[in-house]
Amino acid sequence: MSPRPCYWHEETQGAGRYLIPGCAARAHDPDAQCTCPLAEHHVADLRNQLDDIRREFRRFRRWHDCVMDAIRAHPDATAIYATAEKAHRP
Ligand SMILES: [Zn+2]
Repeated sequence: MSPRPCYWHEETQGAGRYLIPGCAARAHDPDAQCTCPLAEHHVADLRNQLDDIRREFRRFRRWHDCVMDAIRAHPDATAIYATAEKAHRP
């Protein structure tokens, strides 16, 4: 089992030990149950978010390609494209 982000730091000179909290529960109460997500759960969450972003990007890319095809087929394509490019500049 992976360690949770909360941990106790021991002073080498025997000055004591200090909790390094990784979750709000233990930041408020050092004796509380740690609620930090395990590292593998965090990685799984990030992978799911990345999959969502990739799906959204593919949907956006398809929409972009359809819009560009429609613009290219339009008689005023050059003017429309120039206006869009001008608006897109930062
Ligand atoms: Zn924690």
